[in-house]
Amino acid sequence: MTKGTMATDYDAPRKTDEESEDSIEELKNRRNDKNSGKVDEDEVEAAEAFELPGADLSHEELTVRVLPRQQNEFTCASCFLVKHRSQIAKEKNGQFYCVDCAG
Ligand SMILES: [Zn+2]
Repeated sequence: MTKGTMATDYDAPRKTDEESEDSIEELKNRRNDKNSGKVDEDEVEAAEAFELPGADLSHEELTVRVLPRQQNEFTCASCFLVKHRSQIAKEKNGQFYCVDCAG
């Protein structure tokens, strides 16, 4: 019982100190927010809205970098363009040439 009272007494002033410091900063922030509060909220919301698809896109980009060519595509050995396999006009020494370069 005494312990509990002591703990409470010990914590009470500490917490009050921290809280008062926090509330002062909060008040400052709130004052700053009052000027541009609405804009900040919109920006935060926009950033959050962009974050989810952005993360997905960056993941896709990584995948594209690891696999620059699709299985149904090839890199022309002459113009080095990635083209669909249907564009292969010639194969020489394991290298493919597109219809533009073979012709
Ligand atoms: Zn080519």
